[in-house]
Amino acid sequence: MRIAGIELGGTKIVVAAGSGPDDLTPGIRIPTRDPASTMAAVIDALAGLGPFDAIGVASFGPLCLDPTDPGGLRITNTPKPGWTDTPLVTPLAERFGVPVVLDTDVNGAALGEGRWGAAKGLRDYAYITVGTGIGVGLVVNGAPVHGLLHPEAGHLLVRRDAQRDPFKGHCPFHGDCLEGLASGPAIAARVGQPAETLGEDHPVWELVGDYIGQLCASLLLVTSPRRIILGGGVGQRPQVRASAEAAMRRHLAGYVRSPALEGDAQMIVPPGLDSLSGVLGAIVLGAGALAG
Ligand code: ADP
Ligand code: ZN
Repeated sequence: MRIAGIELGGTKIVVAAGSGPDDLTPGIRIPTRDPASTMAAVIDALAGLGPFDAIGVASFGPLCLDPTDPGGLRITNTPKPGWTDTPLVTPLAERFGVPVVLDTDVNGAALGEGRWGAAKGLRDYAYITVGTGIGVGLVVNGAPVHGLLHPEAGHLLVRRDAQRDPFKGHCPFHGDCLEGLASGPAIAARVGQPAETLGEDHPVWELVGDYIGQLCASLLLVTSPRRIILGGGVGQRPQVRASAEAAMRRHLAGYVRSPALEGDAQMIVPPGLDSLSGVLGAIVLGAGALAG
């Protein structure tokens, strides 16, 4: 079984084929430009990979994942210029004649981590990325969560203490939602310099960790994940992870009882697949079309 995986990000796309981490072609990187030329480059890259049995696409969103929607499986109301209503499944299925499975970038990354990475063997877990935006992939009972649309927990409303954090937030929709307070661009807007230039001791990491800890506490209360993987440029800072773990416990205040939330236990862990979670997750998605 050979699957083609496409990780479709807002700034770059990675295309690869294989059956898992030990059998994967080198990723082909394509910058995300306008949809027509970008999708043409993706199709060229796929054609060069040789035969495959299915395609998985893990994409930025928001996405329409409803197979009965007359507009088809597609990117919907993205702020990314030109990409609104870009179909992601039909053009690939027609060109290559194989099943194509689409899901969010973070549901894809979660599935990759669950199959081969930091959530291996688990059926209930979450994958959070904190970078340019904040996204949450959620796997419950072995399956990625879809519903009316798909989870958008990066925009969760969190408590902000206006004395401690007078920054009013950066989200064009909600102001001080989680993404508006703790994403890379929100940190840069708050402190006036790029997040990656800030030292380990900068007080903003404690603050960002508190907000991410609020998200993790809420996830524990809603879908009861057994592990939470924290990725992305901001999320992988060790200070952020440590402060999120402490804040999550503080906000849960002992109400959710489990050894996984006590002592030295770590509920929040770094990704196990580094930068490959997305494209390997896309391969898990594609493989799903052939299973059973
Ligand atoms: P993306 O979310 O675009 O896929 P990243 O996860 O690298 O990619 O996120 C980019 C954002 O994260 C930028 O806002 C950048 O300032 C911030 N960032 C990247 N690396 C770091 C770092 N080491 N520490 C803090 N912030 C970082
Ligand atoms: Zn928001």
